[in-house]
Amino acid sequence: MKPLLQVRDLCKHFPVLGKGLLRRQVGTVRAVDRVSFDLHRGRTLGLVGESGSGKTTCARTILRALEPTSGQALFHTADATVDLATIPESRVKPLRQSMQMIFQDPFASLNPRMTVDAIVGEPLVIHRLARGSELVDRVDEMLMKVGLQPEHRQRYPHAFSGGQRQRIGIARALIMRPSLVIADEAVSALDVSVQAQVINMLVDLQDEFNLTYIFVAHDLSVVRHICDRVAVMYAGRIVELADTDVLFNDPQHPYTRALLSAVPHLDPDVPIRFDAGGEVADPGNLPRGCSFHPRCPDCIDPCDAEVPDLLPLGNGERLAACHLHGQ
Ligand code: SF4
Repeated sequence: MKPLLQVRDLCKHFPVLGKGLLRRQVGTVRAVDRVSFDLHRGRTLGLVGESGSGKTTCARTILRALEPTSGQALFHTADATVDLATIPESRVKPLRQSMQMIFQDPFASLNPRMTVDAIVGEPLVIHRLARGSELVDRVDEMLMKVGLQPEHRQRYPHAFSGGQRQRIGIARALIMRPSLVIADEAVSALDVSVQAQVINMLVDLQDEFNLTYIFVAHDLSVVRHICDRVAVMYAGRIVELADTDVLFNDPQHPYTRALLSAVPHLDPDVPIRFDAGGEVADPGNLPRGCSFHPRCPDCIDPCDAEVPDLLPLGNGERLAACHLHGQ
């Protein structure tokens, strides 16, 4: 079966302009560089990495909230395949019904002057998909799906807790019945107990509506719970891509191992530490060769000279970009 989304060599580069009158380009920030993956309908892909790894920029470029520099993002609908990276902006707007985003900060993403019913129903109004009593019914139904009471529809966002506000944001994203939902650090601003409730709700809604998620997160324990497959990003590139259990039980890339070493352990005697010292590579001034080599404990001969490609390991279900794997 065809994937819902096929991303191929997607790049988002930002020019660095010099000073002076002409403001010539003096460099390039490679925020997203040659990212490729497939995502099947009803599945969840985690995009993980430290702050500055390019995961959010990658997600926003796929949705065309940022203009891609090059590459493809093939989106397969029931009737057609479109390349989100290259179609004209005028053709992106109708597709927004099928692609929605859930943001990190529920308070900042909700208009404080709009009531809950206006916030949740707004996408239906903008796309002229419902009005009158049908609009009211669909908003009420969606509010109940996310665990909110329809009688709260006339309240403003400030009257709700952080978790409830995130539920409002989720209701707004899902009322259009999208196929693809990008959740950008959707639970990181919430208390741990509320995080679990919201994640369980997202899983239930995925089953009910056959949703496909890209879950952008830095919290690997959350990713482990919700994702089928995980792409680890470093300095704008995917350095390892594998099914979640495989990646967590047997990480192959030194950066993945370093990230996993920082996940809190159930055993309180096991210290939390991030094995990779040093600073995250600057995507505007990447080191030669493997971008991770100044921090890598396993650095070998070609690492500071040759950029490793993301290549299949074993049966091809997992990929890693590392010279340790015979590149
Ligand atoms: Fe480390 Fe070399 Fe692998 Fe990069 S390619 S992660 S420097 S071993």
